[in-house]
Amino acid sequence: MKRIAILGSTGSIGRSTLSVVESYPDRFQVSTLAAGNNAELAFEQAVRWKPRVVSLADEAAAQALQSRLRQAGLGKNEVEVVHGAAGTVRVATHPEVDFVVSAIVGVSGLEATYEAVRAGKTVGLANKECLVVAGELLTAEARKQGKPLLPIDSEHNAVHQCLRGGRMDEVERIWLTASGGPFLNTPKSEFASITVEQALNHPTWKMGKRITIDSATLMNKGFEVIEACRLFNVPPDRVQVIVHPQSTIHSLVEFVDGSILAQISVTDMRLPILYALTHPERIPSELRFSISDLRHLDFSPPDMAKFPCLGLAYEAAAAGGAKTIALNAADEVAVAAFLEEQIGFEDIPRIVEETMAATPAGHLESIRGVLALDTEARLLAREMTKRHARKGSPIRAIS
Ligand code: MG
Repeated sequence: MKRIAILGSTGSIGRSTLSVVESYPDRFQVSTLAAGNNAELAFEQAVRWKPRVVSLADEAAAQALQSRLRQAGLGKNEVEVVHGAAGTVRVATHPEVDFVVSAIVGVSGLEATYEAVRAGKTVGLANKECLVVAGELLTAEARKQGKPLLPIDSEHNAVHQCLRGGRMDEVERIWLTASGGPFLNTPKSEFASITVEQALNHPTWKMGKRITIDSATLMNKGFEVIEACRLFNVPPDRVQVIVHPQSTIHSLVEFVDGSILAQISVTDMRLPILYALTHPERIPSELRFSISDLRHLDFSPPDMAKFPCLGLAYEAAAAGGAKTIALNAADEVAVAAFLEEQIGFEDIPRIVEETMAATPAGHLESIRGVLALDTEARLLAREMTKRHARKGSPIRAIS
């Protein structure tokens, strides 16, 4: 029986993880949950799964949850309710836990994820920021503990699977597939007038707002380049992005002899979650892909001039440390400003580039250092954002 902690249990990866656990009650058991701000769903999950510990973001919500659980007949000995950053760390490092699913969006999941690795837990990573801003620290600690970091991001999960086809020194390059986002065929001349509504209209995946905008700028793919470099310990020039609008192949690995292995499956996050939870085993599932329905697969190189965020991410991947922190922080600030219609679509890469340029290169030695620089970079990015902010009316749709 594998005992599982979920960081981000009320989010979409968290809920998918619980649905996998539900399908295999003889294999997995929920030990602890970190639920963030959704107190209502946290209550339902606590009643359904009776975890040892539940953590919520703030103290008042935690107290309210505790009294509701009491009324429902679940005392402190059954379910302990904690809160805040320390609460999340407690969920991640609980002695009963074998496996931690790290699915809190943003850098707020970083400390708990790092502590889970440090406590010798096997970690399934769905959070991007952890690897982007602190990939060097996380992977070094995992190596020290002799525990794998198992990717739940669909592309890296695919690469992880393909890498089982050979040794690391037999790998020529990693190919990350990209859907291309909603502006794959939009001419560059129209980019200045892209609206929030258009950018939020992703062709393949239904996701949160930031990751949807990041998919439209290809910054998401840029983050994935950095994740791949850190997870698989390869330099950025051996990670290539290829646009594949059908998103049928989740990613590929090319070996030195010229063989290329690809991973195909349904676009359902339960599969990478199941893969990570059962690694190194594979177990039967109902997540079938109908290969006979497959008609064609298209591929094209990404347009680096149209999507400067991708190039900036390659730069950050090569420099590492401080530059990756600046990249992530500036992008989050710029995307928020774009969503509020303060800046245009093309200002996002400008703000990222300026923030990266203003952040001195360097490598951080602790998670605390990473978080401090993250705060600094956000302040810088807000300054840059003000300079680009549009005066007057919000951006109009292309007519
Ligand atoms: Mg992905």
